[in-house]
Amino acid sequence: MSHAKHPARNAAVALVAAGMGATMVFGAGASAVAAEARAPFALDTATAVAAQASAQAQAAHQAAVAKAAQAAKAQAAQAKAAAAKKAAVAKAAAAKKAAAKKAAAAKAVDWVKPVSGYKLTAGYAQGGAMWTNKHSGQDFAVPVGTPVKATHSGVVVKAGPNGGGDGPAYGNAIVIKHANGTYSQYAHLSKIKVHVGAKVKTGQQIARSGNTGNSSGPHLHFEIRTTADYGSSVNPAKFLRAEGVVI
Ligand SMILES: [Zn+2]
Repeated sequence: MSHAKHPARNAAVALVAAGMGATMVFGAGASAVAAEARAPFALDTATAVAAQASAQAQAAHQAAVAKAAQAAKAQAAQAKAAAAKKAAVAKAAAAKKAAAKKAAAAKAVDWVKPVSGYKLTAGYAQGGAMWTNKHSGQDFAVPVGTPVKATHSGVVVKAGPNGGGDGPAYGNAIVIKHANGTYSQYAHLSKIKVHVGAKVKTGQQIARSGNTGNSSGPHLHFEIRTTADYGSSVNPAKFLRAEGVVI
């Protein structure tokens, strides 16, 4: 036996022998065989160590990946929050813009006075020698040549002498059709500045006041009608006041 020369083999044999039981008898040959049989076990150990190292490395890698993922997630959340904040700011700006637009649109539908610097004279439905029937409009006493403005946007449907077709009592007159189905009429004019079919804006000058037709003095006769024609008038002062116009 030369056990001293093969300590590794003997150690392996001892390990294997422990597993084989006490009845086994070993010689040098048996030791060698056992040692050969032991080799895969050593290899397994190395493999296991390597596997463990690999597992540790993998765990470390997974931890790093998880950490990176968490960082990415946090960054994404931060970006999302920033985007949400940006969207909220944009939404607020859009809402503000829409409100301003709405206010401008509301202002655009406003009605205005037909003349400035006037004195209210004959009112609506007032009786008198001047009219065959009750007074169909509101009179605004103004000097001849005073600018007459469209009280609201619309389309000119009558414009000319003879009341634009409504009769000589009106003198030179204009009737404008508005989008809401209301008509405004302007009479006794000295100069007409628009033609039938013309689109006019609220406050746009359409004529100059005068004293034409059946008029007792320089003034603008103003009517609000429910059709384009005479006979469909409503109280114009009341109408304008209901639209927020102070006269
Ligand atoms: Zn009148």
